[in-house]
Amino acid sequence: RLHNTIQELKGNIRVFCRVRPLVDGSTSNHIQVPANDLKTITLAKTEESHTGKTADTQKNYNFNFDRVFGPQATQQEIFEEISLLIQSALDGYNVCCFAYGQTGSGKTYTMEGDEFDATRGVIPRAVQQVFRAAEKLEKEGWEFTFTASFVEIYNESLRDHLYTGKASKRPEHDIRKATTGEVTITNLTYEKVINEDQVLGLIALANKNRSTAQTAQNDRSSRSHSVFQLDIEGVNSGRDVKCKSTLCLVDLAGSERMLKSQSQGERFKEMTAINGSLSNPGIVIAALANKESYIPYRNSKLTYLLQNCLGGNSKTPMFVNIAPEPDSFGETLNSLRFASKVN
Ligand code: ADP
Ligand code: MG
Repeated sequence: RLHNTIQELKGNIRVFCRVRPLVDGSTSNHIQVPANDLKTITLAKTEESHTGKTADTQKNYNFNFDRVFGPQATQQEIFEEISLLIQSALDGYNVCCFAYGQTGSGKTYTMEGDEFDATRGVIPRAVQQVFRAAEKLEKEGWEFTFTASFVEIYNESLRDHLYTGKASKRPEHDIRKATTGEVTITNLTYEKVINEDQVLGLIALANKNRSTAQTAQNDRSSRSHSVFQLDIEGVNSGRDVKCKSTLCLVDLAGSERMLKSQSQGERFKEMTAINGSLSNPGIVIAALANKESYIPYRNSKLTYLLQNCLGGNSKTPMFVNIAPEPDSFGETLNSLRFASKVN
């Protein structure tokens, strides 16, 4: 196999914490990421003295992760951390990378980044890495077939990000599991791709598609999961070996507790559906991390779709994105608590 180092890594789930910079570029003082320790983050809460006679007290919450990235971390550094895991998709491992966190914490920035080269996110970098590594393997007699798809799960319904037909003719989708165990989505665009540029074109198409949906539905992106999938099939006829795997890159819906807001009727039903599918990846990942024997894949569209990419031999890197603003303290604490359970 290609990378012995992969086998040396313990377990299959890696949890990384990333702190978004403050909008004005300054550092917040309630979050500390010690520069000499890349695995710890401390959240400090100052309780003001009620009487004014005693001193304010400070409470510290410490969390450990496989790695903590402070606000200065670059997209390049983020990707370097997971690049070997990503590349193991070419060795036949399923890889599923998540971004988890409240809306505005930097999930989409981490996964997609922006249009500039230096600030590209995990998806374009992963695709580049896979195609470059495949090129080398092709010199050793391997032949690869790559198939890309990009789907949104919103309110437990599926939407094809790569659909190019008439809006009025948008098909319905369902998740199907074949007797072989293969999971597919009906009527979804599965695009054969042969190079990086084609995939970047598909990502651009998805963004266009998404912004139209966004106009029709206010803040839709914060309440939907976005799943980019690259299916990889490799054959080496000289050596009579084959491999098959999926690389999944998932931008999860915002983790904020939407039920906190008072919502009723349709809106309430919608929110419960979203929260169901939202908390479920957490449950699934936590179950995997704790090696529980029953994993509730069927409970949501997201986990049902990803069932083959989670568990077993799969590699599961997860980013917990946190926002540095003091008014996000509660959500940040929730996210860190959740993620450290997984860890
Ligand atoms: P989310 O997808 O979690 O809602 P975004 O990725 O959209 O959050 O990030 C919110 C805003 O912060 C965006 O304008 C984004 O460009 C910016 N941002 C997020 N993370 C970073 C970062 N590490 N460095 C610079 N800007 C960032
Ligand atoms: Mg986003």
